[in-house]
Amino acid sequence: MNEDRANSLVIFNTLTREKEVFEPLHPPLVGMYVCGPTVYSDIHLGNCRTFISFDLIYRYLLHLDYKVRYVRNITDAGHLEGDRDEGDDKFAKKARLEELEPMEIVQKYTLGFHDVLSRFNALPPSIEPTATGHILEQIEMIRQILAEGYAYEINGSVYFDVEKYSREYDYGTLTNRKLEDLLEGTRQLDGQDEKRGRLDFALWIKAKAETLMQWPSPWGWGFPGWHIECSAMSTKYLGTTFDIHGGGMDLQATHHTNEIAQSQACNHTAPVKYWMHTNMLTVNGARMSKSAGNGFLPRELFTGEHPLLEKGYSPMTVRFFMAQSHYRSTLDFSNEALQAAEKGYKKLMESLSAIDKIDPSPTSSANIHLLEERCYAAMNDDFNSPMLIAHLFEAVRIINSARDQKETLTADDLKELKRVMHTFIFEILGLLDETKNNAGSDVMEGLMSLILEIRRTARENKDWATSDKIRDRLKEAGIEIKDTRDGVEWTI
Ligand code: AMP
Ligand code: ZN
Repeated sequence: MNEDRANSLVIFNTLTREKEVFEPLHPPLVGMYVCGPTVYSDIHLGNCRTFISFDLIYRYLLHLDYKVRYVRNITDAGHLEGDRDEGDDKFAKKARLEELEPMEIVQKYTLGFHDVLSRFNALPPSIEPTATGHILEQIEMIRQILAEGYAYEINGSVYFDVEKYSREYDYGTLTNRKLEDLLEGTRQLDGQDEKRGRLDFALWIKAKAETLMQWPSPWGWGFPGWHIECSAMSTKYLGTTFDIHGGGMDLQATHHTNEIAQSQACNHTAPVKYWMHTNMLTVNGARMSKSAGNGFLPRELFTGEHPLLEKGYSPMTVRFFMAQSHYRSTLDFSNEALQAAEKGYKKLMESLSAIDKIDPSPTSSANIHLLEERCYAAMNDDFNSPMLIAHLFEAVRIINSARDQKETLTADDLKELKRVMHTFIFEILGLLDETKNNAGSDVMEGLMSLILEIRRTARENKDWATSDKIRDRLKEAGIEIKDTRDGVEWTI
């Protein structure tokens, strides 16, 4: 393990609102929990931003030789439409709409989620537990919270008693807000409410006869509230106190605040040492979300088939676009920004091939060691990927100058430069060289030449339908063909 580098990693902790030196509870082990998707519909690019940000964090911790147990859950039950335990169950509603079983909905969108994240080259987590697979653990935790006196049962439902909890603990600790302020921002209870307090939230919800997904419990048939799954599953796999808990900033005020209260009430200890939150992906300044209807699907982005898109962008262009902003800054989506990212990504990839074409010199005019240290310093400063990219572009400048013989690099420099670039670009930023992985491979070249030959024959026979079909289907697959005077060019 590279102790020096690992020891100087600094993380911004939402809980203390400060940058802190990262000191894991049981080094070299690190426990990291990230709230995963609610799998009742396709994930949009905003969701991807959060998961890709944590992929970068995960990759860097692994690079520092930490042994990370990365748990990212799948929410496949217990998520009602309203944030206040009201409304329809999202899965049941979608199941009716698509005329499928709720678990078919879960399977469909879980597979879609995995597919999207693998296109972005995100590493899979170590454990991916589901809410429905952990009903017993959730019931047990609710039982303990009841036994500790921080919850009450009414008519087959169980609610967390925020007022009681607040007498002993700071309920608003994560967002640094006082109970009175939180109460002020919440609507009054009415006669319909079973809850005793305005801030109380459901741990267990009594099922109606028509509820599609329900389980037996000590309080009758029902289903868990949304927040309890993360407390139960993080405790099960990472223990009562673990190192890092993450998610999008939108989860701070309710979901994560309630998670802390549940875990503290049950386990008598604060569950998490470092809380980390990613900022939002926005479109024209508004948060991208399913409910706002401004959510691009990754597939729309890849093909360019969306009214707001001028063209399609490859997964690595999008990953690079995201890495260009710090995970705690908002990132605004625009065609211009993506086109700039496309150019930047290409430049980075081209510089890698250019290294091999530079003739080594006996003398050196560049300090590669210093460059490497700056790259580490950027990542050690709360995973500052835009700063890292700025240093990598300094490397690109050195490479291009050396290629144009304006700067000199020794054989050792070239070897080191290649190692540093590969480590930070591929291993840590998680980028792939799309040009090599696809266009450069012999199999791909062979296939494309066969397909284009069939198209040429079709055109010679004036079989326009086949010729157009080939062009359209290739476009769907992300390959664009262009007829030129010298033949046909194709790009991915
Ligand atoms: P959901 O499936 O809605 O529970 O969201 C999954 C994850 O995506 C959560 O961590 C959210 O905080 C995060 N998320 C949702 N919208 C955005 C957005 N516009 N930008 C970044 N992250 C988001
Ligand atoms: Zn969660």
